[in-house]
Amino acid sequence: MGKTIGIDLGTTNTCVAAMLNGKPFVIPSSTGNRLIPSYFAVTNDEKTLVGVRAKRQSITNPKNTIFAAKRLIGRRYDTREVQVTKEKVPYGIVQGPHEDARVMCGGKSMSIPEICAYILLEAKNVAQGFLEDEIEGACITVPAYFNENQRQATIDAAEIAGLKVLRIINEPTASALAYAQKRSKKRELIAVYDFGGGTFDISILEFGEGVYEVLSTAGNTYLGGEDIDNRIINYILEDFKKTHGADLMQDVMAMQRLKEAAERAKIELSSQTEATISLPFLTETSQGSVHYNTVIMRSKLEELMSDLVENTIQICKDTLGSAGLKKTEIDEVILVGGQTRAPLVIKKVNEFFEKQPNRSINPDEVVAEGAAIHAYNIVSPLPSNILIDITALSLGIQTKGGMFAEIIPRNTSVPVTKTRKFTTTYDNQDAVRIAVYQGNAEMADDNELLGEFVLSDIRRAKKGEPNIEVSFDMNSEGILKVTAKDADRGTEQTVTLEAASGLNADEITAMKKKMTALELELKEQ
Ligand code: AMP
Repeated sequence: MGKTIGIDLGTTNTCVAAMLNGKPFVIPSSTGNRLIPSYFAVTNDEKTLVGVRAKRQSITNPKNTIFAAKRLIGRRYDTREVQVTKEKVPYGIVQGPHEDARVMCGGKSMSIPEICAYILLEAKNVAQGFLEDEIEGACITVPAYFNENQRQATIDAAEIAGLKVLRIINEPTASALAYAQKRSKKRELIAVYDFGGGTFDISILEFGEGVYEVLSTAGNTYLGGEDIDNRIINYILEDFKKTHGADLMQDVMAMQRLKEAAERAKIELSSQTEATISLPFLTETSQGSVHYNTVIMRSKLEELMSDLVENTIQICKDTLGSAGLKKTEIDEVILVGGQTRAPLVIKKVNEFFEKQPNRSINPDEVVAEGAAIHAYNIVSPLPSNILIDITALSLGIQTKGGMFAEIIPRNTSVPVTKTRKFTTTYDNQDAVRIAVYQGNAEMADDNELLGEFVLSDIRRAKKGEPNIEVSFDMNSEGILKVTAKDADRGTEQTVTLEAASGLNADEITAMKKKMTALELELKEQ
């Protein structure tokens, strides 16, 4: 039997872990790195680079170096999130053949699952090299806030990389599993505050006696450490304009250097009260080369980022409210994600929950550790822990005026079946369109369209008279089956919704073949 692994596929970094001697263990690369930068690049001489090698050359090859692909995975090109990202990254983002967002790299458009597959393949190879064994399967983590399309796109990425997905689990749930392993078996109520490179999540979980139940979760897939980096970048751009009268935004290479320097300064300011940014030969102006030097104080950084941290605290308040809990009932607050190392974050979390957050676990590695534990439990013949997860986003259909009618509200435990009655909106209507959406917005169009079908042949009657029952049946893997029924006639249509990852089966097969060939080529080298 091969080994199982857990992979935390992060916006900034990816981490892989496995169980060794009954304990989760983060697997280092052959050069000793415990984190794989989530970077992919194609060089001028058409070489493919992944991880640390891709990141290292990002300054000189910004247009062909893809980072933060997780922000785009499973998203349609025309969504606000994609358009916002397009403004911020040096590489091109284009519309794919299935309305999906794709990136331009090495002169070609590439799908996001394919980019993520390269990163997953790197993680698999690191694990395989270290464990000296085949990898039988993996648990891969995603933010609790990922919708069906984003989850499916992650599964497709794994398939392209030749990895069998044992389960997709939510990042906070994985953190709780890893944390609980180190605790006694008593019942505990914990809050997992996860502030990573690209996303923020807060989840409230209860565990004890081998049962893990997620009570409530909320977050923002567009709030992370990178937004803090952008605040520093904007601050420097303004300062640069004032002192040198030039707009650095026009210089792609300078912007890339600035991005790296901003993140470095931010990280330094977690342990120091001031950080120096020194960028010689940053750009060329009519007066010649410009060298840029400045000192940023921690207080300045905290001023720049304070509203972002406040946003996370507001989400914590809402989550506790929807779980019907008081903050004093929380036994332990666990910090996950690199951005939680910032002193302001620790201070604000401490003030809000009125207790010192638990910092005994490594925020960069705990998610992968939890995924490794879960993967091991799935294939282990021993009785495993019971995981009760929830839907972080509501599921429903579009009704009159484009409104979103919830059928499964957010924070409902899965598996679940729910039915709601609807009717017609005009006289003698003999068909209704059932458009299924996922999200927490009031208007259907502001949520994610999962799929649609038509219930035809319904009893012709005055508007408002027919009884149409729509049932949603979601299993514990998050697969949704939708049934619409004309209750007067008994006619029924059932559709199992396949999430739209942005790729079809043929494309996945072709990409998988390409990747297997590349893997063989690398092995032979
Ligand atoms: P993750 O997605 O969990 O890998 O978190 C990555 C984010 O954490 C990036 O935005 C990093 O800049 C940030 N980060 C990592 N270390 C630190 C640190 N010591 N202080 C502040 N932010 C950090």
